[in-house]
Amino acid sequence: MDLTFSDKETAFRDELRQWLADNPPPPEPDADRGEDAHYAWRRDWQRTLYDNGWAAPQWPSAYGGRDASLTESAIYFEELGRARVPMAANVLGLLLGGPTLMVWGTDEQKERYLAPILSGEEIWCQGFSEPDAGSDLAALKTRAVRDGDDWVVTGQKVWTSGAQYSKWCMLVARTDQDAAKHKGLTYFLMDMEQEAVQVRPLRQITGEAEFNELFIEEARIPDANVVGGEGNGWKVALTTLMNERAGLGFALQVRLRQLLDDLIEEAVRRDVLDAHADALADLHVRCESIRLLAWKGLTDIEKYGQPGPEGSLVKWLWSDTNQRLTQLAADVVGPEALTGGTRWSYELLRARGNTIEGGTTEVLKNIVAERVLGLPRLKAAA
Ligand SMILES: Cc1cc2nc3c(=O)[nH]c(=O)nc-3n(C[C@H](O)[C@H](O)[C@H](O)COP(=O)(O)OP(=O)(O)OC[C@H]3O[C@@H](n4cnc5c(N)ncnc54)[C@H](O)[C@@H]3O)c2cc1C
Repeated sequence: MDLTFSDKETAFRDELRQWLADNPPPPEPDADRGEDAHYAWRRDWQRTLYDNGWAAPQWPSAYGGRDASLTESAIYFEELGRARVPMAANVLGLLLGGPTLMVWGTDEQKERYLAPILSGEEIWCQGFSEPDAGSDLAALKTRAVRDGDDWVVTGQKVWTSGAQYSKWCMLVARTDQDAAKHKGLTYFLMDMEQEAVQVRPLRQITGEAEFNELFIEEARIPDANVVGGEGNGWKVALTTLMNERAGLGFALQVRLRQLLDDLIEEAVRRDVLDAHADALADLHVRCESIRLLAWKGLTDIEKYGQPGPEGSLVKWLWSDTNQRLTQLAADVVGPEALTGGTRWSYELLRARGNTIEGGTTEVLKNIVAERVLGLPRLKAAA
């Protein structure tokens, strides 16, 4: 792993840094204007990025990106973090859906879907989890039955982030009831704008309704919207999940660093730095380890062409560290962290979901044990 930037990489960083300095996003809307106003702000920001060729530089230029190398992609996320701009609205489309289509999609699908993902014109969500299928995703029961040139889909999804804003859902459904668990699944792009798809918000501990339940009652999906072929849904879904841990991992470690810097400032402002110096130093070491692991992950992708299971390690350490950090923030800020409606109360409550979303910590530890450390697989108790 060589962390020295080449001239080309330095030029890329300088160009982006200058562009961000010249084009800051408008101020964040006040919290009392609600989640929709906040989302619209992120959508406008994605449009600005898109209009200037910065929505997804890591995408190939043939699809509207800049052919950025992996190192340049990492620089991109670091610079966005440093400039403290919002996350693009269509984050699941940009980081998960688009890259999955680039691997598995037909030419027609790439032609039809990639450009509106990039511009934020069509938002994407991820319809994987179900009430009885989260960590054990292949246990999902939503079923799709062929009817002429269409598939008819019935079932329930849950925790679907951003479904309320989405046009397309990356949906995994069972198409063969008799095949072995992982084999009878197919990956679809489902149009959310149909009566047969009902989106019901789920309110979180933070008070927001970031995610939803989806009730699907005989929704129709054209056969042309199958991605990767009938019965191949498990493999396609794995591509989506690996991109989730690799792409998001990098962006998240940058935000973690910012949060720590803000907490240090908060401790200085409140004159309690000495009291918390050890804990802050421990968090600093953790942030640096995660940063270096994230870079190592990129080196591995360069070597092996695919994100590897190390992404699971970054996700696990990030969620653990973010929870420690926000807990420490509560100690620094005192009771106000829970009662004052401060930014830190939001961060503290939102962090609870970190060890669940994108794979629970227990499941990630299994992956690290088996696929990174090469420990023997645990035989599930009957
Ligand atoms: C903020 C947030 C956003 C989300 N967004 C989305 C989304 O957009 N789309 C989507 O499809 N899903 C989404 N999810 C769902 C998320 O992927 C699941 O919650 C997660 O995969 C866990 O599944 P589960 O909730 O069914 O828990 P379960 O799988 O039922 O797990 C329950 C407990 O058992 C443990 N466990 C399960 N299996 C094992 C094992 N083999 N070994 C050891 N322990 C185990 C788990 O760690 C956990 O503690 C989101 C979740 C959150 C919190």
